[in-house]
Formats: sequence, C-alpha cells, structure tokens
Amino acid sequence: MGKLPSGLPVHRNARSAFHELNVADVSRCCRDVAQQLVETYRDAMGDPGDELDVQMNELIATYRELVALESSSRCLETKLENAKGKYRESSHNSEPVELSSWNRYISDSDGRPGLLDIFNSEETSVGTRPKPTGDFKLLEAIAYLWKDPTAMMPDENNDDDVHIEGGKIELCCPITCQDFERPMISKKCNHVFDLQGLQNYFQDYTTRVCPMPGCSLTLSINDFEEDEVMKLRCQIEKVKKKNSTEDQTAMHVI
Ligand SMILES: [Zn+2]
Repeated sequence: MGKLPSGLPVHRNARSAFHELNVADVSRCCRDVAQQLVETYRDAMGDPGDELDVQMNELIATYRELVALESSSRCLETKLENAKGKYRESSHNSEPVELSSWNRYISDSDGRPGLLDIFNSEETSVGTRPKPTGDFKLLEAIAYLWKDPTAMMPDENNDDDVHIEGGKIELCCPITCQDFERPMISKKCNHVFDLQGLQNYFQDYTTRVCPMPGCSLTLSINDFEEDEVMKLRCQIEKVKKKNSTEDQTAMHVI
C-alpha cells in the first residue's frame, strides 16, 4: 500500500495502484493440493500397508492445514475489500483539490486515515465457509469418516433419518439387507439404497413411494444418483476390517 499517498481524494494516477491491491489468489494452489491429496488417498487405499493409519492421519492433518490457509486468505480478502470500500467512499467525499486547498492536501494536515490505517482498523471476521465441493468435499468426508466410517457427518445431523440408529449410519441397504455394493442416494429425500435393490423395487413401476419406511415421497429411479460419501464409508470400513483381520492373523503366527 506504499504506492498510495495518504492524501484524499486519490489522484487519478494512483487509482490503478488502488485497484491492483488484491490478496494473492490461493484458490488454484489449494485446488492442486486437494487433488494431490485425493490421489494420495486413492493410492493408499488401493494398496493399504501397515502404515495406512499413519498415512491417513497425516493426510487429514494436511487437509486441515489447507482449509485453514484457505480460510485465512478468504478472511484477508474480505477485510481488504471492506477497507477499500471505505477508502473509496472517503475519497469520494473529500473536497476537490484546488489551489486554495493544495497546501493542506499535500501536507495531509486534515489527518484522514490512509488505506493501511483503515485496513488495520477493520475487524477480522472468519465468515462462513462455502460448502466444500469436488475434491474438497471428498477430503472433508475422509477427515470425518476415517476414524469411524459409520459416524454421522455434521450436515447429516439435521436429518430426522430413520436409517440412523443411535447416531450411526448403517452400511447396508434397507431393501437387500446386504452391504452396499453401489449405493445410490435419493436427490429428493437423501435416502440411500443399493442399485440392485432399487432396480428390483422399481422393476414394474415408473414411480413408486420411497422404499424407506416412514418416507412418503414418490420417487422414480431417475431421482437417484451415486452416493459418493456412502461409497467412501464402505471403502474405509472394508479396508479397516481387512487390516484388522490381518493384524489378528499376524498375532496368531507369533
Ligand atoms: Zn425417502
């Protein structure tokens, strides 16, 4: 902000310096890191070794750092935008520079705060984080579900979902009563069923009431899409089960 004179109104030659003041955009960089983290996750899950738990906890810690970085950048951006708005307003409201006011203008004797002063006096607010999408959505779910793949995610808490018993998510299909193979989620009511179960259920029907007991919505099979989060739950559960049985086998050998 050194390029900006503290006197107001801002001289037109200084305006470009004012408009160029922006917080460095880290979103691209964050997206790249998120993508790498997802790749690391897939590699680790594809060939889970003894260190899987350590690897995953490191990955989750890195993800949390990434979220913190993103949020502090967003915070700075809001603060700068607010400060610029106030500064602009202050500049608009300043008396025009004329010969009679020139001395006052160059000596800045009216003591108006400069942009830096306004910026520093702005309150820092964290603001609301936009809902994570894409890789961020997946990483967010991994961070929540790694410890317990049947745990409820924060945004699921508001659902009075009959599929949840004691705050746990069941990892089997209510129609087939089998573990999920290809979990599909209803876009209308968020109820999850296996593709096989749905195909049987809708076989002779275009629309039918949701198979979840207590849910009265009328659905068609097109109202369902793949449930990425449920897929993740099942994947984590499977890998953890496999690893723990391997541990037990190893103990028997000893
Ligand atoms: Zn439903």
